[in-house]
Amino acid sequence: MSDSVVTPVLDPEDEELERSLRPKRLDDFVGQERVKEQLGIALEAAKGRGEALDHVLLAGPPGLGKTTLAQIIRAELGVGLRTVAGPALEKKDVAAILTAIEPLDVLFIDEIHRLNRAAEEILYPALEDFRLDIVWGEGAAARTLTIDLPPFTLVGATTRSGLLTTPLRDRFGMTFRLGYYEPEQLGVIVRRSAGILDVEIEDTAADEISRRSRGTPRIANRILRRVRDVAEVRHAGRITDDVAREALELLEVDGCGLERIDRELLSAIADKFDGGPVGLSTLSVALGEETDTIEDVYEPYLLQLGFIQRTPRGRVITQLGRAHIGSVRTDGTLF
Ligand code: ADP
Repeated sequence: MSDSVVTPVLDPEDEELERSLRPKRLDDFVGQERVKEQLGIALEAAKGRGEALDHVLLAGPPGLGKTTLAQIIRAELGVGLRTVAGPALEKKDVAAILTAIEPLDVLFIDEIHRLNRAAEEILYPALEDFRLDIVWGEGAAARTLTIDLPPFTLVGATTRSGLLTTPLRDRFGMTFRLGYYEPEQLGVIVRRSAGILDVEIEDTAADEISRRSRGTPRIANRILRRVRDVAEVRHAGRITDDVAREALELLEVDGCGLERIDRELLSAIADKFDGGPVGLSTLSVALGEETDTIEDVYEPYLLQLGFIQRTPRGRVITQLGRAHIGSVRTDGTLF
């Protein structure tokens, strides 16, 4: 139970469960109303014209529904989907994927900001003119073979849109930023998931889980599954308010949804570095966490809560952040 709900080690059963909880159609996707509205119109228009949907960039912290939306886009269009991870892609992989693509298909590239330069450059003409340019030979003897591609849609997902190169960003017809969810919206997701998992949950318990899920559906679903374990192993199976609190305490998730590592991060800035500013790499060494994980996973929510700030000279803790660790310490409790 000491496992993190923000960055867990997933086993195949967890992944299977995560898949089963994914909404399949746009109507089942909770929240992000503006995104849903704009995307819904674009999908209907593209379908009506029988054309490929414009390329879509989905940006936002992990677990907010980017992969889910990519799958919904393909389901709504009734076309094929190919999913690949940006960092693993070589130029030759991109060429192979593009030549195998069927008309109107969706190609989903996760972590597209980490695409290597050569792989990215071969994408440009494919995105703009549905054309693949293959160059072989060097210097004056270089030859280019141009292959026409069927129209297709690229859906790119990124946790760090700021790292995308301008030429790549410019080739997306639509960019959607996913924001953190309100507790009420997470409540809808938790109740829906409980229904799929066939577990009974009290309303107040669903609300408690939602408040402590740092605005993130993936975390809400993970906490729900852990709470279900506690309900089944220690109690009669029904998730009551007390069962939810007991499980959250076991998980060391506090009243703001912070985990131990978040609190360690706050304490490190406050105590070891005198409130900051402290550079990301120094913080990374102090915590034994990768800089990317700190930036992508932990910091966005701490920034959102106003517990830390980013300054040109490094991270600083705010009064609110200090008050939070102070209250957790003096109470001796997480709630
Ligand atoms: P990302 O790709 O942004 O990291 P995912 O699309 O994988 O996030 O979403 C993580 C999980 O959260 C999914 O399994 C899905 O069940 C759930 N989820 C995300 N967004 C929503 C939503 N708007 N409504 C319901 N469930 C959602």
